[in-house]
Amino acid sequence: MAGRFAPSPTSDLHLGNLRTALVAWLLARSTGRAFLLRIEDLDTQRVRAAPEVAARQIADLAAIGLDFDGEPVWQSDRLARYADAVARLDTYECFCTRREIAEAASAPHGDGYRAYPGTCRHLTEAEREQRRRDRTPAIRVRAHGAVQAVTDLWAGEVSGVVDDFVVVRNDGVPAYNLAVVVDDVAQGVDQVVRGDDLLSSSPRQAWLTRRLGGTMAQYAHVPLVLNPQGGRLAKRDGAVTLADLADAGVTAGRVLTLLAHSLNLAGRDESVSPGALLARFDPAALPREPWVLGPVD
Ligand code: GLU
Repeated sequence: MAGRFAPSPTSDLHLGNLRTALVAWLLARSTGRAFLLRIEDLDTQRVRAAPEVAARQIADLAAIGLDFDGEPVWQSDRLARYADAVARLDTYECFCTRREIAEAASAPHGDGYRAYPGTCRHLTEAEREQRRRDRTPAIRVRAHGAVQAVTDLWAGEVSGVVDDFVVVRNDGVPAYNLAVVVDDVAQGVDQVVRGDDLLSSSPRQAWLTRRLGGTMAQYAHVPLVLNPQGGRLAKRDGAVTLADLADAGVTAGRVLTLLAHSLNLAGRDESVSPGALLARFDPAALPREPWVLGPVD
């Protein structure tokens, strides 16, 4: 079975992304799993820079010493698989705008996601026919209000009600939750490691994994890296990518040390390699709190 790192090629990886990748690599390698790289470029396939951004992401992962099995998989090459999966699901067309959902749905979750209230679930064919004239529908999967639990290395048992979530957006692009699950199932991924901003998506994805005949993954949602003000680390926080840090005289090897130190795996000035970290890796000893980034030097 396999673990994976699945960046979206929207911008260069920052220290938080690199740290998540390191944890994903350590968890996969320490459990004898293959480690796969998947470029999640569905949203960005019309952005001309996506291949270049992905190439820099791949180079940055190599620069801190992470290796992958096989060639990277690009989601934009796999559209037929997503369409096949959608055809196997019980789905319906949804004509709701964002605003209509906001007005009809209950309060948003902490991450801003609004559970779909089911407005279009029972439209007749005649009603759908009429609405299609004004608006291209999104496609939602019928989840029948299922409750799904997942087990997360950091968060423990997390349970959520699965709403009728979108599997194809109304611009025809396969939705994030669909594409991730189709690929994880096809690639034999049974260990999902990523930033904890995606924790609340995991019950939906675990439920869909089972619908598509896959094995439920174990999850590890890594606490985000925060800037000194306590906000989520972003590019505007200064030198947070390998390229920026290199300009400031901070090498990739130094960055690996800082990441390892933040994970209780190395001293602040110890020179390390991923292999050396693997030898001393204990998931139970990983810090539970977000990493607040101080000055990098
Ligand atoms: N592509 C997503 C991101 O970069 C991660 C998806 C996942 O790991 O499931 O945020």
